[in-house]
Amino acid sequence: MEIKEIKAIRVLDSRGVPTIKTFVKTENETGSASIPSGTSAGLFEAYELRDTKSKDYFNLDVSKAIKNVNTVINKKLKGKFVLDQEDIDNTLLELDGTDNKSRLGANAILSVSLAVSRAAANELSMPLYQYISRLNNNNNFKDPTPLSNIINGGLHSGSNIAFQEYLIIPKFKEIEDSVKSMSEIYHSLKNIISKEYGPSSTNVGFEGGFVPNFKDVNEENPLILIEKAIKDAGYTRKEIGLGLDCAANSFYNEKEKKYFLNNKNYSSSELLDYYLDLIKKFKIKSIEDPFFEKDKKAWQEFSKKVSSSINVVGDDLLVTNPALIKDAISKKYCNSLLLKVNQIGTLTESLNAFNISKKANWKVIVSHRSGETEDNYISDLAYGINADYVKFGAPSRGERTSKYNRLLEIKEIKS
Ligand code: PEP
Ligand code: MG
Repeated sequence: MEIKEIKAIRVLDSRGVPTIKTFVKTENETGSASIPSGTSAGLFEAYELRDTKSKDYFNLDVSKAIKNVNTVINKKLKGKFVLDQEDIDNTLLELDGTDNKSRLGANAILSVSLAVSRAAANELSMPLYQYISRLNNNNNFKDPTPLSNIINGGLHSGSNIAFQEYLIIPKFKEIEDSVKSMSEIYHSLKNIISKEYGPSSTNVGFEGGFVPNFKDVNEENPLILIEKAIKDAGYTRKEIGLGLDCAANSFYNEKEKKYFLNNKNYSSSELLDYYLDLIKKFKIKSIEDPFFEKDKKAWQEFSKKVSSSINVVGDDLLVTNPALIKDAISKKYCNSLLLKVNQIGTLTESLNAFNISKKANWKVIVSHRSGETEDNYISDLAYGINADYVKFGAPSRGERTSKYNRLLEIKEIKS
């Protein structure tokens, strides 16, 4: 069960941008993992190493990260026992030696960390979710509740709406029922949008959600359309919740300390009131990144006002970083973690982020990135740790459906 060789290659993500895929080989088995990438990234995410000075792929190539895996990392980890995940992850951190993984690159490090766990699961002839559950001492399994992004705005599309994600939240116990409702609502939404805004408005953004060409800019419009789609597909609002990822970093003006949406500027407290209105009007159950990541006072006030009635989710605010999560717990900035493995860069640290959050009674949402590959590692992760929610995008486009389909497959394997 010793690591014999580690080898990385370049592949493309769903945006057509290069990313890294790594293979970890033992005597008899191989485990691989490819790494996603964000568009609306938080300021304090672990460092994604790209060839910023090369013309190749318009400065976005990952040849340095690949080289780091194939040389220094390969040399250092050769001979290690593949089941020693924590020791291997710590060795990677030591080898990098920086706070934000900027020497070797978080993309290089994570690709190795995840591929090691897949090779280990293969060595034990276990499905990956089961191996992860063993690593995290978890014996409870339930189907996670999906948050599915069916209208794309913000930096994820060419839309004129500011909020990045309009999410439906099916509340069914079984993932099969959730997937069915998502698919049916998605298609009824497509019909409604096509009739009201023309067929070109059914084009989709990075995460498979529609991008309607709204004539008047109003963040309520997508919510109105989605409510109609839920009804048309034969579901009730009791069965289907609504959520938002505002991704407020992308519409905040740091100089003026104002948020720009609905064609006007909002102060932090005006935006807070606007959110309270939307929550009431549309029965919103989950709001992610409602404020700029450094506007901590607004986060605190908002969380105090809504208390535990909705999920206040930290993405750019927390960047899956255990130290930032602990700080947010003590200062009550939010009550839920968006867990993205590439924001922190190893499996061990990701599990740590999850465990710290659960200990504080937070909800945890395992999430994709806007730049994804067909790798469905995060489905096994979510199931293996018994995450409350998953956020995998619309029920369309291969890199998104591969995650939902893997959840369906896990159910079959398990039964
Ligand atoms: C998000 O903000 O939650 C998201 C998935 O987008 P990105 O990957 O661009 O950060
Ligand atoms: Mg987000």
